Amino acid sequence: MSKASVDINNLPYADGDFFAFEQLLTAKEQDRLAEIRGFLAREVRPIAVDCWNRGEFPMELIPKLAEIDLVSPVRRQGYSNLFAGLVHAEATRADTSIATFMGVHDGLFTGSIEALASQEQQDAWLPDIYSLKKIGAFGLTEPLGGSDVAGGTRTTAQRNGDTWILNGAKRWIGNATFSDWVVVYARDIADNQVKGFLVDTALPGFSATKIENKISLRTVQNADIVLENVVVPDFFKLAGANSFRDTNKVLKVTRLSVGWQAVGQQLAAFDVARRYAVERHQFGRPLASFQLVQSQLVQILGNAVSSMGHDGPAFPAGGCRPGQG
Ligand SMILES: Cc1cc2nc3c(=O)[nH]c(=O)nc-3n(C[C@H](O)[C@H](O)[C@H](O)COP(=O)(O)OP(=O)(O)OC[C@H]3O[C@@H](n4cnc5c(N)ncnc54)[C@H](O)[C@@H]3O)c2cc1C
Repeated sequence: MSKASVDINNLPYADGDFFAFEQLLTAKEQDRLAEIRGFLAREVRPIAVDCWNRGEFPMELIPKLAEIDLVSPVRRQGYSNLFAGLVHAEATRADTSIATFMGVHDGLFTGSIEALASQEQQDAWLPDIYSLKKIGAFGLTEPLGGSDVAGGTRTTAQRNGDTWILNGAKRWIGNATFSDWVVVYARDIADNQVKGFLVDTALPGFSATKIENKISLRTVQNADIVLENVVVPDFFKLAGANSFRDTNKVLKVTRLSVGWQAVGQQLAAFDVARRYAVERHQFGRPLASFQLVQSQLVQILGNAVSSMGHDGPAFPAGGCRPGQG
């Protein structure tokens, strides 16, 4: 189904892509995006508000997310960066929390493995990660190290024969209350460099406690992690994570998806405002028939569309024309 054949009266969302960036996608990508959009409208949007109110993650969604197969679309499935960005915007448009769950598992966690693990490690771990049999988290921030974590990582790693011993604390770690693995960044006391480790959350000495009373991203389960003499076999030290410069490679790539999240949130705001303005009648007419309201709707949409444009995330360095990844 190409964009040209889409029935605009039956879209799951109001179509906010006024510059038709979607038409830069291949026909296969357009079909896939329509499939994902339908999935989000069917499975995610209807449960989003309830999960938010309860502050709980819908674990029953994970097998469905596995089935729709969203992890690593560019590297593994050969889709373009533009496609990956539009998918992330659409996921955010349905629910920022679920998009963040995917952003952590796919971008930060899987991204760490894809960028920094050896081929042998990738072969051992990635199949279960791609299929969501293993859920991941990304443990960088610490109670005392936020913006300055590059130089301020206090969690330590000490080599001990064929193992590493990790000690310290991490804060705000998304997915970590239920994840199987966390990529933990820790400072090697031998050379003072930040290194990366794939830590099994079942290991003795590892604990993750949910951070309660959040006012934002309430469905995302953020945790305080404590590591007390956690013994990690050397095979689980990421081969290519040997200084914070390596960690930065992961952060650099995933910043793009943050821009796409902002696009998705603006489109969601437009969806809600537009729907209300069309349905709500005052003075015998829909609100949307008043020019003042139309002007506000146009402003939201204008900002959203310009966020997708040349100065926005649609055209990152290296380009993202169809097929170029
Ligand atoms: C919902 C949520 C999910 C998160 N998920 C994860 C995760 O999965 N994994 C993970 O590792 N981390 C995660 N984080 C942590 C996040 O990356 C940090 O919050 C972020 O790095 C900022 O650190 P901080 O909160 O300690 O703020 P601080 O560094 O203490 O900053 C506080 C304020 O001061 C400002 N500030 C700091 N330094 C400067 C400066 N030099 N100049 C001007 N202003 C400055 C900041 O912009 C900010 O407004 C998450 C955070 C949140 C809130």
